[in-house]
Amino acid sequence: MLPLDGAIALVTGASRGIGAAVAVELARLGAHCVLTARTQGGLEETDAAIRAVGGQATLLPLDLIEGAADLDMLGPSIIERFGRLDILVHAAGVLPKLTPVAHILPGDFAASVAVNFSAAWRLIRTCEPPLRAAPAGRAVFLTDARVAEPSAYFGLYSAAKAGQAHLVQAWAAEVAGTPIRVNLADPGAVGTRLRRSAWPGENQAALAAPADVAPAIAALCLPGEVRHGQVVRIGSGDDGCAIAPT
Ligand code: NAP
Repeated sequence: MLPLDGAIALVTGASRGIGAAVAVELARLGAHCVLTARTQGGLEETDAAIRAVGGQATLLPLDLIEGAADLDMLGPSIIERFGRLDILVHAAGVLPKLTPVAHILPGDFAASVAVNFSAAWRLIRTCEPPLRAAPAGRAVFLTDARVAEPSAYFGLYSAAKAGQAHLVQAWAAEVAGTPIRVNLADPGAVGTRLRRSAWPGENQAALAAPADVAPAIAALCLPGEVRHGQVVRIGSGDDGCAIAPT
C-alpha cells in the first residue's frame, strides 16, 4: 500500500520544471494526478514519466491567463468526476521581463498578476469545496524568497507572489479548524526554464534539479502532514535575492 493510494491530486505548472517533478513524485506515492499547463507536449512528457513509475494521470491543457472561466469550473468538474480533491499543488508561475518598476508594460503586469496571484485565488475558490470533501485535503503553493526580500527589477514578480502568499496564509487561517492543511513552499534556486530566463549564463548543473526538491514538496501533501500556514523553505543555494540596483 502506497501512502497516497487512491488520492486525487491537481498539479498546475505540470508541463515541466518543479510542477512536473512534483506530479511524478505524487504519482510514485500512489496519487492519480490531474496535470494542467498550456503545453500539450509537456503534459504528455510528464504523463509518460508518471506511467514509467507505475502511476496514472489525467491531462487538462489550460491557460491561466486566457482560461479563467475554465479554471473556475475545475472544482465542480473534479467533484463530478472524482467526488473530492485530496491534493492541490499550484506550481505554475511566470517570471516577467526583469525591468525597473517604472518601465513595466501593462501586458506584462496583467500576465504576472494572472498567473502568480489571481490564479491562486481562483484555485482556492474552486478547489475548497472538493478539498473539504476529502478526509485530509492538502494544498501547497510555490512561493519565492523575494516575497520577503524584494529586490530591484524583480518587483512585478515578487509583488504578485507576495499577493499570493498573503491570500494563502489568510485562507490557511480560515480553514485551520478543518482537516485541510495549507502551506507555501519556497524551493530555493532550482534549474528550470524560469530560472534560466533570469540567469541565462548560469551553470544549471550546479543547482538543485526539480527532482531534488520534489520529495519535500510532496511530503507537504501527505495525509499525516501537520504543518499549516507556513512558508516551508526547501533546498538551499544562492537564489540571487541580494541583487543590487546598478
Ligand atoms: P518553469 O519550469 O518555467 O515552469 C513553469 C510552469 O508554469 C510550466 O509548467 C508552465 O507551463 C506553467 N505556466 C506558466 N504560465 C502559464 C499559464 N499562463 N497558464 C498555465 N500554466 C502556465 O518554472 P519552475 O522554476 O518550475 O517554477 C515553478 C514554481 O516555482 C513557480 O511558481 C516559481 O515562481 C517557483 N519558484 C521557482 C524557483 C526556481 O529557482 N526555479 C525559485 C523560487 C520559486 P506552460 O508554459 O506549458 O503553460
